[in-house]
Amino acid sequence: MAGRTALVTGAAAGIGRACALRLAAAGARVRAVDRDADGLRALEAQARELPGTVRPQVLDLTDLDAAEAAAAGVDVLVNNAGLQHVRPLEDFPPEVFHTVLTVMLEAPFRLIRGALPHMYGQGWGRIVNISSVHGVRASAFKSAYVAAKHGLEGLSKTAALEGAPHGVTSNCVSPGYVRTALVERQIADQAAAHGIPPERVLSEVLLRDTPLKRLAEPEEVAEAVAYLCTPSAAFVTGTSLTLDGGWTAH
Ligand code: NAD
Repeated sequence: MAGRTALVTGAAAGIGRACALRLAAAGARVRAVDRDADGLRALEAQARELPGTVRPQVLDLTDLDAAEAAAAGVDVLVNNAGLQHVRPLEDFPPEVFHTVLTVMLEAPFRLIRGALPHMYGQGWGRIVNISSVHGVRASAFKSAYVAAKHGLEGLSKTAALEGAPHGVTSNCVSPGYVRTALVERQIADQAAAHGIPPERVLSEVLLRDTPLKRLAEPEEVAEAVAYLCTPSAAFVTGTSLTLDGGWTAH
């Protein structure tokens, strides 16, 4: 990745942070985008010894024009930022639905739009969209998230078709549950929605259908992202690399 510029959204925490560190470890110049300035500062400090660089950019992705502008000139785009809200449909706040779709579907569209002219110009580009098992499966009480991830899978495939003649691949990486704040934050909501105590949420709700009974680590997801940027993955496009401990084998 030496000489490559990569943009990672949601880079201040969780999977995005792991991706930024992994790509910088491979020598990339990483633009780390997030609305969390403190988290970005911590990431920058953590990346100091790595062969590549991490440059923080504080940005709220609901500012779609700014998101599109931020992607100009990148060789690798990792659409990762996301948020979860667990509520039955009849109680789901419409404004939260709108925000989830904006950050997790419309911003990726705008970032891809901003990145493509440079990628097409040089005949090479890599788009990696962090989707989820929820890009192909639904779970109750996650209407906005499931809708956004299903949409992201479609956007990613469309980018693959259009990008192919220009040397640009587009793929999803689709994890099951990963050990991050996004999962920790939903334990209480899941307990309330399912009417069970919080300590039973992991085994009875989140990992119920997962044969490998553990959470994935953010670094495992970052490894898949890095693979999709290697020459070995040049023929991989328009697909989803699933890391779900066997969940979707059911
Ligand atoms: P996380 O909450 O740890 O990190 C998400 C990051 O996105 C945060 O740093 C947050 O500040 C940033 N972000 C959120 N809204 C933003 C906005 N409007 N503008 C800029 N930045 C914003 O979450 P995570 O678990 O690392 O999730 C990262 C991605 O992985 C998401 O797309 C999520 O859907 C996906 N994913 C997560 C899991 C999981 O189990 N954790 C599983 C499958 C897919």
